[in-house]
Amino acid sequence: MGSHLPQALPAPLPPPADPQRLDALAADLRAAGMEPLRGAGPLAGLAADGFVYSPVLQPLLQGLAPQLGVRAQSTEQVRQVAAACARHGVSLTLRGAGTGNYGQAVPLAGGLVLELSGLTRLRSLDPHTGVFTAEAAMPLAELEQRLQAQGREPRLLPSTVRSASLAGYVAGGSSGIGSLRWGFLRDPGHLLGLELVTLEPEPRLLQLDAAAAAAINHAYGCNGIITALTMASAAAVPWWQLVVAFERWDDALAAAQRLPATALLLQSLCVLEGPITPLLPWPQGCPAGMAGQHRLLLLAAPDALPALGALLPALGGTLLWQAPQGESRGVPLRELTWNHTTLHARAQEPGFTYLQLLLPQPEGAALAALRQRWGADLLWHLEGVRGFGQQRLACLPLVRWRGREALQQLIDHALELGCLLFNPHAITVEEGGLGVVDADQVAAKAAYDPAGLLNPGKLRGWWERPQAPG
Ligand SMILES: Cc1cc2nc3c(=O)[nH]c(=O)nc-3n(C[C@H](O)[C@H](O)[C@H](O)COP(=O)(O)OP(=O)(O)OC[C@H]3O[C@@H](n4cnc5c(N)ncnc54)[C@H](O)[C@@H]3O)c2cc1C
Repeated sequence: MGSHLPQALPAPLPPPADPQRLDALAADLRAAGMEPLRGAGPLAGLAADGFVYSPVLQPLLQGLAPQLGVRAQSTEQVRQVAAACARHGVSLTLRGAGTGNYGQAVPLAGGLVLELSGLTRLRSLDPHTGVFTAEAAMPLAELEQRLQAQGREPRLLPSTVRSASLAGYVAGGSSGIGSLRWGFLRDPGHLLGLELVTLEPEPRLLQLDAAAAAAINHAYGCNGIITALTMASAAAVPWWQLVVAFERWDDALAAAQRLPATALLLQSLCVLEGPITPLLPWPQGCPAGMAGQHRLLLLAAPDALPALGALLPALGGTLLWQAPQGESRGVPLRELTWNHTTLHARAQEPGFTYLQLLLPQPEGAALAALRQRWGADLLWHLEGVRGFGQQRLACLPLVRWRGREALQQLIDHALELGCLLFNPHAITVEEGGLGVVDADQVAAKAAYDPAGLLNPGKLRGWWERPQAPG
């Protein structure tokens, strides 16, 4: 099997822009009413993201920074930035809130970083269908509040909902709270259209339908600048947060397999192996974790509570705590799930890193085989998802870092067992997904970023395309 862990930045990367070009670009931005950011201090906040969770990515990405930064307040200013970058041949990397996990928003070759700070409006919400159009930099927390006020809610949210932006989530994320019901962001039906600015000397402002928008979804901003998104929403539910304890791991796993196969309305299901639980900051009133006790975290509809009350003891679980979402104090339960589990655990024990796997079914056999070989170097963190039309379990195990070779061997073993890897130690769009080039993403880059200036080095299919300059 080939290596899944990069040793160097992907090639080929353009050289950083020379000072004359930068000066000319900065002058154009000023002329368009924007104040370019220059120098280590002002640019520091535009450089990094959550790649520090990967000891493989950290030495490669640490210290990489843009040469120039700018914040656009309107779609017209976005067009002006795109035109100026195209004219001067300076690369452009989009940035939302900078919460990506793999350096998605970290510029590999300097250039300019653009935040769409002023584009935060909810443009429309259809009261009959729930379809909404929101601008790219809309904070997800605000989007959630605005939809809830109209009886709707986002179908999917990352556990970074309190900080992340809508376009950053669609361009850089994949799944999260709601994936138990709604699957993955790239599943057809979530993203219904996009407004896009192209990177050309005369940038076009395009309205893409769902089919054309699919190539921009999860492309790390490599093939167009998203200025607004049209998406489906769900009917709002006043979710309840539940924490359930299990003495036996097999019971916890069986409950995670059984509950999504009921008629209970659940938004999120997360299982944490005992030793992870003392590392997490539980909501106020919820007992602290104990290494010998596994936990199931649920977001459930109010009408599911009586049935859960009867079902959980039969599955070997004990309800420890419950509270309505939004009304508990301390960290909300959803901020203990997905990559927030990794974040909190690393805050206590920085020697942990992680993997992202979709487990083969039945899941128990793969987990047992991994445990047998890797012992306590792996701690189980499972998330219920709907994948390929079926209820599945994703696994985001905490992994004790024992060096590159050991991590590569662990990945090889997981692949041999039939796991699908969503590699969090990779830089390109392809390696972070299923490893294959998406020809539609590459064609969209050719159409909307013909000079290849957007987020260079992140789309492998671009430099591997047959007509790429040798
Ligand atoms: C603790 C933690 C927990 C996380 N949990 C989840 C989770 O549950 N689910 C999940 O999917 N992800 C998760 N992530 C990853 C990340 O938080 C999400 O993907 C998030 O939504 C990214 O949004 P952002 O605004 O921070 O985007 P950024 O990180 O700023 O950008 C992400 C990508 O989008 C591109 N981009 C930004 N704006 C635009 C635009 N206007 N047009 C085109 N491209 C653009 C950027 O260039 C970059 O490639 C987690 C990360 C951390 C650190």
